[in-house]
Amino acid sequence: MTQRRGGRPYRAESRDIGDHRSHPPRHDLSNELTALEGTSYGRYKSLRGKWWAGPAILDISRVQSDPYAPPSRVALEFDAEAADLIADWYATEERRRALAVLLAKRFKRACPTRDLRIDAGGQEILRRASCTVGSDGSVVFRLGAQFPGHGRRIAGRQAARLLCEVLPDAADEALSVSEEDVLVWTRHADDVRALREAVGAAGLVAFVADGAMLARRSGVDDRPMESGVPFASPESMAVEFDLPHAGTVRGMGIGPGVTLIVGGGFHGKSTLLRALESGVWDHVPGDGRDLVVADRSAVKIRAEDGRAVTGVDVHAFVDHLPSGDDTRHFTTENASGSTSQAAGIVEALEAGAKALLIDEDTAATNLMIRDARMQELVAKEREPLTPLVDLVRSMADEHGVATILVMGGSGDYMDVADRVILMDAYRPEDVTERAKALAAKPTGRRVEAEGFRLPRARVIDPRSVSSESRGKQKIKAGGTDGLRFGESDVDVRSVEQITDPAMTTGIGLAIEAAVRHGWIDGEATVEAVLDRLDEALDTGGEAELLRIRDIDLAVPRRHEVAATLNRMRELRVRQSGG
Ligand code: ADP
Ligand code: MG
Repeated sequence: MTQRRGGRPYRAESRDIGDHRSHPPRHDLSNELTALEGTSYGRYKSLRGKWWAGPAILDISRVQSDPYAPPSRVALEFDAEAADLIADWYATEERRRALAVLLAKRFKRACPTRDLRIDAGGQEILRRASCTVGSDGSVVFRLGAQFPGHGRRIAGRQAARLLCEVLPDAADEALSVSEEDVLVWTRHADDVRALREAVGAAGLVAFVADGAMLARRSGVDDRPMESGVPFASPESMAVEFDLPHAGTVRGMGIGPGVTLIVGGGFHGKSTLLRALESGVWDHVPGDGRDLVVADRSAVKIRAEDGRAVTGVDVHAFVDHLPSGDDTRHFTTENASGSTSQAAGIVEALEAGAKALLIDEDTAATNLMIRDARMQELVAKEREPLTPLVDLVRSMADEHGVATILVMGGSGDYMDVADRVILMDAYRPEDVTERAKALAAKPTGRRVEAEGFRLPRARVIDPRSVSSESRGKQKIKAGGTDGLRFGESDVDVRSVEQITDPAMTTGIGLAIEAAVRHGWIDGEATVEAVLDRLDEALDTGGEAELLRIRDIDLAVPRRHEVAATLNRMRELRVRQSGG
């Protein structure tokens, strides 16, 4: 036990955490565990409930049925006095969120054994169940604990050490954080919040600070590249903002409308776009993308052939299919590259996306472009697809939806772009004027659409969405790739903004919440359901989802919830009239 804790005498009478008043916490877990030494493993179940653990309360909420089952779940709860944090550290929602991530990461570092598993997350600062800091300064750590056994017998002394020494010591170590360390995180939280507000107020869709390191160490290592080229904004696109702690920051501001990112292969186009995709989240200090932000509603769109599409109005993009299928209510078990991307766009708009991010690397060419020669060769009547190039202007001008596109392989977007960024050896250059001059020379290409009309709202059939699996509720994440939700296996590999396995679980629980609360009621539109969800998740997100299941989770955005719902093969919808 560290000094910090020793200096804090605890008075059981003064504690008031959670609902333990009805079931007061028990004493002497350590003795209890020691007494269970050698008895049958199942007797661990008798320990469920709350226990005094020094100045904190240990809640054993789920007990594994055998030593090989997934770990038991425990929570260590500190009230404000026991946590002993400085009030300034938890004064705002952003600071609490950052502080909680810091504490979870410190707990993980302090924990000497794999038998205690805290979900400390990656580079994004997400609201997660593993550690929460309350507005009153209370702190809860929630984690998996592998209850030790000798075969199917209880290893009681070992368990006593794990739960009554190692666990509280790791929490104590986490909480014994220096003011200096906390301020790095809380000031960063203040700055990012201020930056997001300033970027929004300036009417910008995204901002990338000078000096940012966008490149990652590798495809499987999300930490910043160590010796990469730092970002530097072109003069013409540079904007400056005053942040409360960092002072004046300069960087590239991306305005509304249509933004084109061009340049040769390997010059950093996709890396820039990926940084913007990730810019919907805040990042841990030192991530390299610390001051890279994108509109919170920005959605990455890509082609995803083979996915299911249910009742989506893709008519603006796909018309008169040879099969005769109605594209105003397009349903398929097996979408093509172009129809999957068209559906992705329409679904993102339905969920409220105000910015679309598209990379040629993962887009369907025939949905992106159709050049003059191809228009000449294949008459419009024989081509079901209307390329995005003819719709982005209307999306921007009439519907306020910005698009940021990586497109190094076709010049047709120069006709519709508001700005063109050329990536040259990882350095952005503003080539808008040159591109406009080129666009002034006609290519002979004809515009193929009048404009973009927002699709009709959809209403989900509640019977098609259920987490019940043969009478049992089932929500299980397969990393960031899949979600088992009742009887459905949802493939979310192509939902690229799901960056954390705990977020996949959070999505499953969010959908479950929407079902359980009756928000998906057969009347409310998808948008209305997501609004209800946002309301519920806005502040008490972790608590709302934890009510459903004590499990490692991160609170998702509405956009990833919608993307997951839309990929359920069992989904049934109708379009709302009018
Ligand atoms: P493009 O999309 O233009 O073909 P990418 O964005 O895929 O290029 O980048 C190509 C390679 O360059 C990647 O391996 C990436 O990690 C690396 N890279 C990107 N940006 C930087 C940078 N600022 N400094 C160093 N390497 C970078
Ligand atoms: Mg690329």
